[in-house]
Amino acid sequence: MIAYDLKCGKGHTFEGWFDNSESYEKQKNTALISCPICNDTNVSKILSTFSIKHSHPSTDNPGSKNIPALHQKQIMNYLEKNFEDVGSNFATEALKIHYGVCEPRNIRGVSSDEEEKTLRKEGVNFIKIPIPVSSQD
Ligand SMILES: [Zn+2]
Repeated sequence: MIAYDLKCGKGHTFEGWFDNSESYEKQKNTALISCPICNDTNVSKILSTFSIKHSHPSTDNPGSKNIPALHQKQIMNYLEKNFEDVGSNFATEALKIHYGVCEPRNIRGVSSDEEEKTLRKEGVNFIKIPIPVSSQD
């Protein structure tokens, strides 16, 4: 059910309930809606001042594209403090940790698409974080 604010030809306003907007149009076109005050069937819809805004533009790819710049910086700061930078050896180190060759530790670095595929295949859990290109640190 939806509620519409309606107005008759004489300016009376009232509320009408309908199954949906189609139902409203249908009833309006067949003059089934009448003003409860003067029975005028010349009613029109008062445009609502409310609109629905999507506060979460996209949630299908969390942790990837839509991280605000501020959060990116916080994440980067956190990573820099708590994760050992292994640079381009990331995939190798991650596999070593995965198979118990190295002490488990937090590492960060870069990896190629191929390496990422391998890591996924081996069941290594890792997260990808977009690094702001403009970062000058
Ligand atoms: Zn009226």
